[in-house]
Amino acid sequence: MKCKYCLQDTNVVKIGKLSYEQYYKCRNCNKHFTYTILDQIDPQEIQRLLNNGVHRYAIAREYGCTHNAINSYIKKHHLIESTIERVTFKS
Ligand SMILES: [Zn+2]
Repeated sequence: MKCKYCLQDTNVVKIGKLSYEQYYKCRNCNKHFTYTILDQIDPQEIQRLLNNGVHRYAIAREYGCTHNAINSYIKKHHLIESTIERVTFKS
């Protein structure tokens, strides 16, 4: 496991789990960070799912990560979500 900050792969310890996300602490630079399975997935793969109209929450479930994780992943990799038609209810 590589630290996201100092990129050292020694001295990184697991400190706990919140929902699906595993928290790590780097003893080298003392920073905390999360690591999800998404970090190992090719953004193009996620983009393909989005292109197929798969909702981001469904993707999150599929990969066992949180909504927040998929949201930041989409942002981070500048993925484009297919437009979702909004349904408006008339009262
Ligand atoms: Zn570090």
